[in-house]
Amino acid sequence: MSVKDNLNTIKSELPEEVALVAVSKTKPNKDILEAYQAGQRVFGENKVQEMVQKWEGLPKDIKWHMIGHLQRNKVKYMAGFVSLIHGVDSPRLLKEINKQAKKHDRVIPCLLQIHIAEEDTKFGLDQAELDELIASDTFKAMENIKIVGLMGMATFTEDESQIRREFAQLKSTFDDLKTKLNDITTLSMGMSGDFGIAIEEGSNMVRIGSSIFGARNYS
Ligand SMILES: *Cc1c(COP(=O)(O)O)cnc(C)c1O
Repeated sequence: MSVKDNLNTIKSELPEEVALVAVSKTKPNKDILEAYQAGQRVFGENKVQEMVQKWEGLPKDIKWHMIGHLQRNKVKYMAGFVSLIHGVDSPRLLKEINKQAKKHDRVIPCLLQIHIAEEDTKFGLDQAELDELIASDTFKAMENIKIVGLMGMATFTEDESQIRREFAQLKSTFDDLKTKLNDITTLSMGMSGDFGIAIEEGSNMVRIGSSIFGARNYS
């Protein structure tokens, strides 16, 4: 199967209201261009350097999403062009994004990452940290970021009921956040292995890599 065929298969499985982020990390520009030529415009990367290089070499109407864990000192390299940052998991990171966005005279849309998995290795805020963040004066004073929703990753497990439970928990946090902030529209949950369950539980943005581009080789 080609990238184009894989992409079309995935798209045929997604309801119209669910946005697709094609996760192109580790994949070469030629694979991204194949997806681009098949109509895909939104791509996700998890390393800033790699995303900057790809942004430089590829068509400028691509929307680049940063989906990985983000270090504060890297924000400046992508602040001029990144279109959505999925993994915001601390007030300090948000502050840095706000500062760099201001330098570029833009407002950067962000998703707050919520910790829903059992594993400690996954990043994200818990409910108390989320509540504290959105109630803080520093948050209210930030004019160059806009929180548009939440992102989360379920536990890596065969246990479907656990995955479902974790996604349902994130959906309920999302619905609650909508009552507290304006402009909350996006719930980013679901990857190649679990996007079907994520959509059933209310996701409207899925991040899919290997099912489109094939397995990744980390060297
Ligand atoms: C790599 C990655 C994905 C895509 O994973 P696949 O299993 O290849 O679809 C989605 N979200 C995040 C945060 C990732 O790092």
